Amino acid sequence: MIDVIIVGAGPAGLLLAGELRLAGVGTVVLERHERRPDFCRGFNLNARALDLLARRGLADALIAEGWQVPHAAFSGLPVTLGLAGTHTDHPYSLGIPQTRVEEVLEAHATARGADLRRGHEVRGLRQDDDGVEVTVAAGDGGYRLRARYVVGCDGSRSTVRRQAGIAFPGTPATRWSLLGDVEPADPLPFGVSSGPGGWVFVIPRPGYVRIITADHGTERAAPTLDEFQAAVETALGRPVPIRQARWLARFGDAARQAAEYVRGRVVLAGDAAHIHPPAGAVGVNVALDDAFNLGWKLAATVKGTAPAHLLGTYHDERHAAGEHVLANTQAQVLLGEADGNVTDLLTRVARHPDGNRALAETVTGLDTRYPMVPAADHPWLGRLALSGDGTLAALQERGLGVLVGAEDVADLAEIARPWADHVVVTPGSDRPPLLVRPDGHTAWVQTDGAEGLREALEHWFGPPVSGAPRPVPCAA
Ligand SMILES: Cc1cc2nc3c(=O)[nH]c(=O)nc-3n(C[C@H](O)[C@H](O)[C@H](O)COP(=O)(O)OP(=O)(O)OC[C@H]3O[C@@H](n4cnc5c(N)ncnc54)[C@H](O)[C@@H]3O)c2cc1C
Repeated sequence: MIDVIIVGAGPAGLLLAGELRLAGVGTVVLERHERRPDFCRGFNLNARALDLLARRGLADALIAEGWQVPHAAFSGLPVTLGLAGTHTDHPYSLGIPQTRVEEVLEAHATARGADLRRGHEVRGLRQDDDGVEVTVAAGDGGYRLRARYVVGCDGSRSTVRRQAGIAFPGTPATRWSLLGDVEPADPLPFGVSSGPGGWVFVIPRPGYVRIITADHGTERAAPTLDEFQAAVETALGRPVPIRQARWLARFGDAARQAAEYVRGRVVLAGDAAHIHPPAGAVGVNVALDDAFNLGWKLAATVKGTAPAHLLGTYHDERHAAGEHVLANTQAQVLLGEADGNVTDLLTRVARHPDGNRALAETVTGLDTRYPMVPAADHPWLGRLALSGDGTLAALQERGLGVLVGAEDVADLAEIARPWADHVVVTPGSDRPPLLVRPDGHTAWVQTDGAEGLREALEHWFGPPVSGAPRPVPCAA
């Protein structure tokens, strides 16, 4: 009996594997492909994804390799969204291939002992009260594997989701686009160009360009180069010779979300849990966000230290966040077709500093705020606790919670003593004492003595363990 089987080694599965291993949970990752594909879908990490990865020491190496752009985009608006002054430690979007992010996450997970099996495809799944059994096809044969939990990180057509009988309601694609990573014979201007038959969006890539254009055909299989070139030429109304294609794809604007992110012992994360229009290019980022929220909760559940409700808060928090992503990406698509008055009005809002910041925080998920227990009226509660100089992020690299400001407030440290296995205690800074969950979100802020701290600790980390050692203060 394995602790956890993760199906799919994309961004969600690989980050989750690293999180589970950090907590010492036995983890097998089953990936149907023998090797990572030679094309790259996503090319960016947003500010929130970087904030999260920094909490496990995973951001700096990526930042050193990528290129920083100090804004985000809201499709359909002629205004960029500035990230300076938003709620983040990383006020920029990072240009970096998704494949490179996956390599870094894979190295992190396997170095910590995750058992990654490539060329192993999950074909079936059956769960009972004690565990989940998956049927795996590998090479010329196959085998069965049983785990206490199975997490479907297996993308939009998730076998795990279907086999577990989890509904995937939403809207089917009504608009389609063609994408080509190609080498045109002659240079094309970057950005959006309009022609007599439509538009093309040209994005520079290392050694080639990515061209996206509307797909007016009825074919749904992968496009051929002839078909792709014809669509580009129709849009621009002139010949556009293309020397070579590296990757051609067709994608739609379907928006769907799993009705349950957790069903018994089966859990979903990333594209398996939600699909949305590509506006804003957030798929990788939301997948990482899911995995980061899930990792510590599932680990504590497997180890038997979690309160019974903890895994359910993964559904509550991330399903709500997913609804938000579906809503704002669909709104961006609709804006492209909206009456000019709507675009003008929103453009005015986006040009106002407060409106610009609110939209920037919406499309990047920096406005994410989870409900906390006990509830309180404090602007930090439920939001990601900013690390500032990096001290707080560094304290979270072991995947534990942090009680900041407790060492010099003896009664708080004493209250936290029974949770010493879960919470690091650290001296305060210029901010009031606060409790930060392992995923970096503020679970409690001192407003009136120690009121609410014990309840917050018990809510997130389970009942107090009597006789626990006094927490060792961590050097700042
Ligand atoms: C054309 C295109 C462009 C995109 N551009 C961006 C962008 O710029 N920025 C961005 O953030 N996002 C972008 N995305 C979205 C992004 O690629 C996805 O949202 C992201 O990869 C989701 O990660 P995931 O781990 O949930 O799933 P995936 O990355 O899809 O990984 C799922 C894995 O599961 C494996 N798998 C599936 N079924 C099984 C099975 N039965 N058994 C074993 N393994 C299985 C698959 O082989 C795959 O490796 C783009 C997507 C597309 C299609």
